[in-house]
Amino acid sequence: MHLARFPRLRFAHLPTPLEPLENLSAHLGGPNIWVKRDDCTGLAMGGNKTRKLEFLMADALDQGADTIITQGATQSNHARQTAAISAKLGLECHVLLEDRTGSNDPSYNYNGNVLLDQLYGATIAKRPGGADMNLEMESLAEQLGGQGKKTYIIPGGGSNPVGALGYVNAAVELLAQANEMGLVIDHLVHATGSAGTQAGLVTGLVGSNSSIPVLGIGVRAPKEKQEASVFGLAERTADHIGLGGVVKPEHVVANCDYVGGGYGVPTEGMVEAVKLLARTETILLDPVYSGKGMAGLIDLIRKGHFSKDENVVFLHTGGAVGLFGYPDSFDLPGYLA
Ligand SMILES: *Cc1c(COP(=O)(O)O)cnc(C)c1O
Repeated sequence: MHLARFPRLRFAHLPTPLEPLENLSAHLGGPNIWVKRDDCTGLAMGGNKTRKLEFLMADALDQGADTIITQGATQSNHARQTAAISAKLGLECHVLLEDRTGSNDPSYNYNGNVLLDQLYGATIAKRPGGADMNLEMESLAEQLGGQGKKTYIIPGGGSNPVGALGYVNAAVELLAQANEMGLVIDHLVHATGSAGTQAGLVTGLVGSNSSIPVLGIGVRAPKEKQEASVFGLAERTADHIGLGGVVKPEHVVANCDYVGGGYGVPTEGMVEAVKLLARTETILLDPVYSGKGMAGLIDLIRKGHFSKDENVVFLHTGGAVGLFGYPDSFDLPGYLA
């Protein structure tokens, strides 16, 4: 695995810290919980899409693109990070936002990530929930192509074999840190959505023979569908880096018991996790991904899924900008709707 062979721009703040969460671990009575701070990747308030975009944007520039098209939910963190780096690279950015929640809360629709998309100069347009977003992006590309633009389409979440390289690289980075610290990682846990993060991590960890199990906590799809999409992308990512066939279905595990009412719909566990991490560790999780991922981890800890002396690393994938799209979800006394 020699990732220097793949075109990449450098704008993420790397390596991100790997830190112990002593207060949280004590609060839950073990295991030893660690956090890998990919909320601190630097670009546009950070998050996991930045690592993927280092490879995707290099590819876009290699192909001579002048216009980036991507899509996500209204409060898409991927859209925000893509809008930001497009601006820096002097590229036009068009974002299609799918209304997956049906919320008409003005904070959800205009604050948080939507505010930043526009601050970074992206053109945003809404599409109804359930729209075929890939088709919508293609027809936009056709339209912009007709105006002489050279478009480059980034799939939702930046999840294709090029974007997933960012998380193959994160796996290598994490292993180097753990080796240096003498930390034996027993489990790696994170929120999984469009699958690129888990697919890249699994490919990197299996490809380096690390025997570290990865658990993705789903935020949208049911377990079988989520595992199939992660596995499919991991296979294609492994092929892309010359490791075809190394990832087996048993390497891909998702737990989708913490989705609640649906993608982007708050749950009690998410609210508890967001408050607990803020108040014990100063760490800001988000309502859609890392909050539900941590809610899953907390619940599994309470159910005895991990032994007390194990080291569990939670990959913090970012997203706290989304908190400003959900101000009334946290039952806070000072919030006047
Ligand atoms: C996109 C995102 C995820 C999920 O990553 P995927 O690669 O789409 O599975 C997790 N957390 C946050 C904050 C995200 O924005």
